Amino acid sequence: MAVETVDTLVIGAGQAGVAMSEHLGKAGVPHLVLERGRIAERWRAWRWDSLVANGPAWHDRFPNLEHAGDPEAFPGKESVADYFVAYAEKFKAPIRCGVEVTAVAALQGRPGFRVETKATDAPHGAGGVIEARRVVSATGPFQRPIIPPIVPETAGLLQIHSTGYRNPAQLPDGAVLVVGAGSSGTQIADELLRAGRRVFISVGPHGRPPRAYRGRDYCWWLGVLGKWDITTPPAGAEHVTIAVSGAYGGNTVDFRRLASRGMGLVGRADGFKNGVMTFAPDLAANIAKGDADYLAVLDEADAYIARNGMDLPPEPSARVILADPACVTDPIRALNLKEEGITTIIWATGFALDYSWLKFDVLDRDGKPKHSRGISEVPGLYFVGLPWLSRRGSSFIWGVWHDARFIADQIGIQRSYEGYTPAAPAQAKQA
Ligand SMILES: Cc1cc2nc3c(=O)[nH]c(=O)nc-3n(C[C@H](O)[C@H](O)[C@H](O)COP(=O)(O)OP(=O)(O)OC[C@H]3O[C@@H](n4cnc5c(N)ncnc54)[C@H](O)[C@@H]3O)c2cc1C
Repeated sequence: MAVETVDTLVIGAGQAGVAMSEHLGKAGVPHLVLERGRIAERWRAWRWDSLVANGPAWHDRFPNLEHAGDPEAFPGKESVADYFVAYAEKFKAPIRCGVEVTAVAALQGRPGFRVETKATDAPHGAGGVIEARRVVSATGPFQRPIIPPIVPETAGLLQIHSTGYRNPAQLPDGAVLVVGAGSSGTQIADELLRAGRRVFISVGPHGRPPRAYRGRDYCWWLGVLGKWDITTPPAGAEHVTIAVSGAYGGNTVDFRRLASRGMGLVGRADGFKNGVMTFAPDLAANIAKGDADYLAVLDEADAYIARNGMDLPPEPSARVILADPACVTDPIRALNLKEEGITTIIWATGFALDYSWLKFDVLDRDGKPKHSRGISEVPGLYFVGLPWLSRRGSSFIWGVWHDARFIADQIGIQRSYEGYTPAAPAQAKQA
């Protein structure tokens, strides 16, 4: 049976795969995108019902298409997914859904890759082998949910990762402990509190930028202050999560305000024994560092406004920090889950990568691809959409579009070398 061939195979049709397809198409590179689910599957299937984009519609988009509706609003997850479907249609992206890539290995004796696939959705896809001259992995920055091995499955309560959370009604009655205070953890905890649940949140090191300051959204400040373009994480901040939210019209995440509404704040979860969960003595320090990060953004914004002679309304109220609540001054170091009525733990503890399908020695000791701006050490193998691929914005909607353009450009350069045939065979001249 004839093997299907293609110049460039893109794996994954999230925002990274869609952007990649647009740029490859514009560069005239024949290509195919394989997606095991639907376009933007993770926006639809891995996010809770009420999730909205963390950035406003004017910002969280590709340059060539605006979101429908109010540009200042934060679009819901289905709307974001629909946006990428519309975008793919606009550029007639050659996307084949319902096909999972199960293995990518080098062809022997000639350049390119043997790609094994299987159908995940029989009516729409087909499995089999494809040979590709190049492969671009666009399989996501957040691939495998991580739950730290702290509480055993036998502990007698529901434990889910934030990717499994949908809405408050899905959970059994009772109090909820949310572990992790990045954007997912804080938004889920807030939703549960508003639904009348008793909620505890375990707060680790975090940044909590202002949602908006002096009339401009944080995404705008990141842009004009050059922060989306930072090429490496600031020293010591590699694992610091960012707590930001577009929910309920967009508000600055403020743990003291959450506490004043009844949420229990605890430090980093660090152990579990005999039904009692323990927490590190780091809550006050984590909150203080979050404040410092917040105030530093205000300082930088003020300096930018002064430097550029801008007329933006002063906002002194943004600098008012509430007094520490009792759970910060007298921290809870242990919670007996049963006595507190906690029936659910939601682990908003992040993700790992999963390249089990990649049959190459191209990962570092942490399982991360070795690459430079997405160009791997294996000729013809590229990555797009990874955190910090080229800059801070790389794993976000607006940033991945620019990285994809760079990679398409690199592929075009290689194709022109490959397509070169000299008018007459080159001969080395003798000196
Ligand atoms: C809760 C949450 C909220 C976020 N909110 C925002 C936001 O508001 N704004 C923003 O800019 N960013 C946001 N992000 C970050 C980022 O934009 C998203 O993670 C986005 O989904 C990444 O897009 P991607 O295309 O790189 O990867 P993904 O969306 O993960 O897409 C990868 C695709 O590859 C497919 N795939 C994987 N393996 C295979 C395989 N072997 N074969 C075939 N297909 C495969 C998957 O099915 C998936 O569709 C958020 C992230 C999370 C976790």
